[in-house]
Amino acid sequence: MGASQPRAGLAKGQGRKNPSQRLNISRYDRSMSAHQINDETKILVVDDDPASAKLVKLALECDGYQVLTANSGKQAIKEMSDWSPHLVLLDVSMPGLNGLDTLKYLRARNHYVSTIFVTGRSDVDDVVRGLDAGADDYIRKPFDAKELLARVRTQLRIKQLNDNLKAANKKLKSLVDKDDLTGLFNMRSLYEKLDNELNRARRFGRSVCVIMMDMDHFKNVNDSNDHLFGSFVLQ
Ligand SMILES: [Mg+2]
Repeated sequence: MGASQPRAGLAKGQGRKNPSQRLNISRYDRSMSAHQINDETKILVVDDDPASAKLVKLALECDGYQVLTANSGKQAIKEMSDWSPHLVLLDVSMPGLNGLDTLKYLRARNHYVSTIFVTGRSDVDDVVRGLDAGADDYIRKPFDAKELLARVRTQLRIKQLNDNLKAANKKLKSLVDKDDLTGLFNMRSLYEKLDNELNRARRFGRSVCVIMMDMDHFKNVNDSNDHLFGSFVLQ
């Protein structure tokens, strides 16, 4: 953000007001999002301009988020590993590793993190370039704090839906692979794992060993107790 550029919510004489007043976030606006406030949600703000980073941090803290700032792409990548944020607000124009290059690093990681570009650039091509590079949303400076918070909530909502979907898929995978009663891997899963191991062995020129164990007289356990007890024993 250039020195002469107006900053969101910081009009002359507002320095003495509390953070929400300075950012022009009314009590009504904040109560609308109160049910979504989550003090465990971590947001990383990346901006080489300390004043701009502080302003974004202030807005986010009004909604109760945990906020950490990084002043470069390099520091952002380090904090991604050390702090594991749920969302990243990323400045595009930074010396060294700029926002687009930083985003490439983030997208190369296995763990997907939602990213919003926050930038002073207003050219449509820049917006398109940012979104095509993998940004989830785009906000121009000077930003409106209420809009910024609404966009953050939108991204966190999408992330929650995505997390729920992943958890449901994991559960489904477990149901498909395991026997209901014993919790042991079923035959379908055994064949799949065996195929994987055989392929791995071929790749590395190694052999595969399979051990089959038979339990003699197990029928007696089922007959003398019941099948549920037999399943319990197998677990
Ligand atoms: Mg910058």
